[in-house]
Amino acid sequence: MTHQAVRASTALYGVAGQPVRHSLSPVLHNGWIADHGLDAVYVAFEIDEPDFETALAGLRAAGAQGLNVTLPFKARALACAAAASVRSVEAGAANTMTASPAGWSADSTDGPGFVADLDLRAPGWRDVPGPMVVIGAGGAGRSLLHALRTARPVAGLHLANRSPERAEQARLGLDGVTVFSFDALPAALAGAGLVVNCTSRGLRGIDPLEPDFNGLHADATVYDTVYSPRRTAFLAAASRHRTLDGLGMLVGQAAISFERWFGIQPDIEAGLARLEASLEAQA
Ligand code: NAP
Repeated sequence: MTHQAVRASTALYGVAGQPVRHSLSPVLHNGWIADHGLDAVYVAFEIDEPDFETALAGLRAAGAQGLNVTLPFKARALACAAAASVRSVEAGAANTMTASPAGWSADSTDGPGFVADLDLRAPGWRDVPGPMVVIGAGGAGRSLLHALRTARPVAGLHLANRSPERAEQARLGLDGVTVFSFDALPAALAGAGLVVNCTSRGLRGIDPLEPDFNGLHADATVYDTVYSPRRTAFLAAASRHRTLDGLGMLVGQAAISFERWFGIQPDIEAGLARLEASLEAQA
């Protein structure tokens, strides 16, 4: 990776989370910053849970220009914002904070980043009939639910979540969303044209979800938002279908953050290639 010189004038950006030392976001953003010769740097801030609000306010006071926020702080980031986009309010979470004179302005780019990745890596996905199934009603699931409703308003949306209360809360204000319990997953998946895992099951290979995908539409796409590992048991169980891991969504959501901060559309393919090289180097 090319390193830009860090000077007194260099603008500060970063990702806040706990843990966050494993994050691939610095590879992505610093790569794009170098591509465009910007006077900026992007670092990781590992913040202890009780300190999040203090750290966010302190970073703003110290002149940080933009932050990504990851687990477990996305809902708290939205609560700290002086202003928020409609989609971050819909998601109940923020992953992108931009400095403004009034304080932090919140946005949620997970959903649109996911749809951008589908358009890129799953051409024709919008034409496959059948409902779209979102498994997981946390910040990512809610963000995807709204983005999918906008991208394909005619298709039915099925939402399955471990805790039914959270699923009911997630579908508030959304037409055409049917909630299923985990036990009823086979019914949720019947004839589906798109399925996406938005739970943290399968992260680092732990306790993966392995549904029976036999009832899907033959041309269905199965997507796992998890990208570590890239080949999850969830995707392996869907090997008869087109499968996609969450690395493209990571690039997609980051690209929207980058454009928001710098007004420049970054190179998605270059970002994906850098992440793949970085993951290979770690392996
Ligand atoms: P979150 O708000 O904490 O939500 C976690 C979700 O996982 C909830 O639906 C939760 O269900 C479910 N869950 C957790 N443990 C479970 C278990 N043992 N059994 C069944 N369900 C379980 O987290 P998030 O921000 O939505 O992230 C969810 C996943 O998306 C993570 O794996 C994250 O890595 C991934 N993600 C990927 C990207 C990307 O760019 N690729 C971006 C954002 C997120 P309950 O409501 O019942 O607790």
